[in-house]
Amino acid sequence: MTAGGYDLEEIRARADIAEIISPHVALRKAGRRLTGLCPFHKERTPSFTVDPENGLWHCFGCKAGGDLFRFVEMIDKVTFAEAVELLARRYGVAPTRRAEAASVARRERMLALHAEAARYFQRCLRAAAAQAARDYLAGRGLSADAIKDWGLGYAPPTWDALLKAMSKRSHSGDELARAGLAVSREGGPDQAGFYDRFRDRIIFPIWDASGRVIAFGGRAMADDQQPKYLNSPETPLFQKGRTLYAFHRARRAMADAGRAIVVEGYLDAIACHDAGFTETAGTMGTALTADHVELLRRRVPRLVLSFDSDSAGLSAALRGRDLFLQAGLEVLVVTLPEGFDPDRLVREQGAEAFRELVAEAMPITEWELRRILSKTAPPVGHASSVPPEDPRPEVLREAAAALARLPEGVEREYYVRWLAQQAGGASPGATTALENALRAELSRLDTRKRGRAQRTPDKLPAPEEHPERSGDAVAVGRLGRSLLAAFLHQPDLAQRFLAELELGDFPTAEQRSVFAAIAHSVEQGQPVATQTVLPQVEPEARALLAELVVCEVPEERLEEEVRRAIRRLVEGRLRREETALQQQLEAAGSDAQRQALLGRLSECRRRRSELAGERIVGEP
Ligand SMILES: [Zn+2]
Repeated sequence: MTAGGYDLEEIRARADIAEIISPHVALRKAGRRLTGLCPFHKERTPSFTVDPENGLWHCFGCKAGGDLFRFVEMIDKVTFAEAVELLARRYGVAPTRRAEAASVARRERMLALHAEAARYFQRCLRAAAAQAARDYLAGRGLSADAIKDWGLGYAPPTWDALLKAMSKRSHSGDELARAGLAVSREGGPDQAGFYDRFRDRIIFPIWDASGRVIAFGGRAMADDQQPKYLNSPETPLFQKGRTLYAFHRARRAMADAGRAIVVEGYLDAIACHDAGFTETAGTMGTALTADHVELLRRRVPRLVLSFDSDSAGLSAALRGRDLFLQAGLEVLVVTLPEGFDPDRLVREQGAEAFRELVAEAMPITEWELRRILSKTAPPVGHASSVPPEDPRPEVLREAAAALARLPEGVEREYYVRWLAQQAGGASPGATTALENALRAELSRLDTRKRGRAQRTPDKLPAPEEHPERSGDAVAVGRLGRSLLAAFLHQPDLAQRFLAELELGDFPTAEQRSVFAAIAHSVEQGQPVATQTVLPQVEPEARALLAELVVCEVPEERLEEEVRRAIRRLVEGRLRREETALQQQLEAAGSDAQRQALLGRLSECRRRRSELAGERIVGEP
């Protein structure tokens, strides 16, 4: 298996997991394992366990676990691809195929070009000719320290300053154009056929998650210079829908604070960082995308949106609320005074004022409802000033439409009452009437939504769910795990009993992935060992595999346990089949159909009672 052009198994083979973990955890030897205090949860007795032989780790306390890549992902807060790259470099593993090697080399060269260009722009800002640029930055409240810290620079007003400077370092115009730093003139592909993209602008380097410069943002200094913000175009290094400004600096602070403050643009992000909100990252000329949300979801449970009040970003965030909901993110909105963005607020009113506004940030639903209500009332943010007069019907309808996007449940119910109280004022009669009107409108909207969902023709069936009652589900989950653990610890059991099981017997996707990987090894005639199974396991299931390999499996009566677990799982399978057959029977059209179904049903019952008989005979 490869990722980003690297052979994961080669990295695994060269790396020593204990060496990777030991700077973060004091490890002690305990038999074939190493144990220590878990770096991912607070504990006094060690439940963090490393299996150096198999290159796996697992914490019996917080259930985190996986392989070396997973450990680096979690401890350094990087993506899987970044973890692979970090470890490949550390252990001197080169990218595999030549094509991949070439693309990695091109990428490296483009990164080097960006690093050189960043240094060049910084030198230009210090030059005598850049006095106006320095004055501008001072006027924006940026100190010399901040300018240095954020690597700000200046692009001179001429057409080829960067092209010339980079050609001295053997970067061609064509190369600069591919990196988005130069633009091709209509005419020819020769050196003279390009001009600098950024001219007479303040330059903000834009970094990837590991802190390498991958693009630039250029801000105009004069009001008549258009556009005000000019970013690098999309390149192999830079996709603005996947990049958040200052994210690499905010990553750790986000994890510590348990939230991410999201702003629009570089200046707001810098202002927030300098005011002590180091968990801030900024979008750049785009609304929050699904990729942004995914990037943040992996680190924090809560987003605090701090956009200026008339920003397009806020409307986009409202439309994208389903995205947050699906990601399980709590989203709060900061209400900034009219005409203020975070940069101006921090500069004019200080960090403390911003801190107070962040502390008062309200859930996005409440924020949206207040905004809708304010259409009949004075400004948002002053609940008590909403007049007790009847809201207009279109306001109610809009509010109901906003609520209909929440799933039915406690939160929606809460907002129905809240809204009725806000809009109904002091009169209990009016409040009740409003509540009823809202519920009626919501149920109308829900019915319409359900109608639409049913008409969607190619809707996929819901993922297969085991209909066991919840207590049973836990028991089945345990059976599946102990069975898989037994197979991994005594591979001959896997060889002998695998054929009796089906993928669907295992209740979770992770268990199914581990089972499929074991089955794959057996079918390929390979030994069932962690080294053969691990590469086949889906990334999501690696933590489970680690746990199963690291856990202790009592050897006595293991075969008996395996037989018992298989019997229970197969019984469950037969019961599910029976239920499905019964449902088909109820809907069956013809007698012939009914006969066939009845035949299959009695076969299921017969096999199930056989299994029950085995239990009576075979069990002590
Ligand atoms: Zn833990």
